[in-house]
Amino acid sequence: MGEIAVYEIKVESSFSGAHHLRGYDGQCENLHGHNWKVEVFVSSSELGEDGMVLDFRRLKEATQAVLETLDHRYLNEIPYFIEVNPSSENIAKYIFDRMRNRLGEKGVRVTRVTAWESAGASASYYED
Ligand SMILES: [Zn+2]
Repeated sequence: MGEIAVYEIKVESSFSGAHHLRGYDGQCENLHGHNWKVEVFVSSSELGEDGMVLDFRRLKEATQAVLETLDHRYLNEIPYFIEVNPSSENIAKYIFDRMRNRLGEKGVRVTRVTAWESAGASASYYED
């Protein structure tokens, strides 16, 4: 009663980038790099005729295409991050918005993007 079934899939990928955080008093104020691990979650309440939410290969290709815009870059020089601090939170949102633009399939939703800046620290973006 009132429950909505949801299938969720996830791919993991990574990119290397450099950044510094403006207006932040601490180590991240200085130029440094991270190997960000990125998780992209996609869900649907119905499966396609193939029994899948979305082909993993297609999801991986879309994720790679977005991450290529960040890989081996100085993030502060990317137009989006000139206005917006390149924190892991904002990186997660940057990826989320671009993934959503790429995955227009009916009923398929990008539900969350998590950016891990180290093994023990991550930030996620999603919309309620
Ligand atoms: Zn940092």
